[in-house]
Amino acid sequence: MTVGVEPEEQAGVGDADSFQRLWTPHRMAYIKGENKPSGAADCPFCEIPALPDEEGLVVARGTAVFAVLNLYPYNSGHLLVCPYRHVADYAELDEAETVEVAQFTQRALTALRKASGAQGFNVGMNLGSVAGAGIAAHLHQHVVPRWGGDTNFMPVVGHTKVLPQLLRDTRALLVEAWPEV
Ligand SMILES: [Zn+2]
Repeated sequence: MTVGVEPEEQAGVGDADSFQRLWTPHRMAYIKGENKPSGAADCPFCEIPALPDEEGLVVARGTAVFAVLNLYPYNSGHLLVCPYRHVADYAELDEAETVEVAQFTQRALTALRKASGAQGFNVGMNLGSVAGAGIAAHLHQHVVPRWGGDTNFMPVVGHTKVLPQLLRDTRALLVEAWPEV
């Protein structure tokens, strides 16, 4: 199943095929430091908004922030809410950014519940490398859906059992489930 264009430039997206497997190359790419910026100039969260949604795995765009699938998900459907502005510290967000980060976090919960029947969530930010931020220079709010046992992403794709769905398919489902404002 192919949805939208092939996001060939995105590491870890994977290619659709008929196999389902317990295989997480996206984590290895993360561990190896792939796509890790050496400076603001090649910050992925600054580059993603310039890409087409399918290629950048963008789920929704707001005025000050956007929601994107994490290339290195802790779980299927792992979303990131990022300001467009390259800013590291949550305390530096202006009022409009602060409000929209909150609104997009709420909409992400709604979309994930609708698309996947998520039973719980981990929501939050790691600020600074010492706190575990992979890309510390550009803050991002994690929204990680959880299920009992975390072994079954969705009733609607019941034939996919353990393995996370391909990210581009997940994106299409979340775009459809993203609430109207
Ligand atoms: Zn940035």
